Amino acid sequence: MTDEPFVLKTTCPYCDQANHLHGVVDGEDGPEPGNLSICWTCGGPAIFDDDLSLRQATDEELADPWVTEQVRKFNWTKRESRRRYGPF
Ligand SMILES: [Zn+2]
Repeated sequence: MTDEPFVLKTTCPYCDQANHLHGVVDGEDGPEPGNLSICWTCGGPAIFDDDLSLRQATDEELADPWVTEQVRKFNWTKRESRRRYGPF
């Protein structure tokens, strides 16, 4: 696959993990304020703030069916990766 997801060094607002594993779920050319990002470590759904740092998603944002669906897909992908390739 040639289309690597855009990755930015960020700190997770849920688990404080500083990592580069926060993939951007939406946003084709890198993150923009309001884009969703999911922590590969804890699965926390975070939103890029105006300065492109990550903040926890609000209850309102979490209630968005699109966000729920992305989190579900992410968790499935993560579970499948662990099943196939083991823990990382
Ligand atoms: Zn996290």
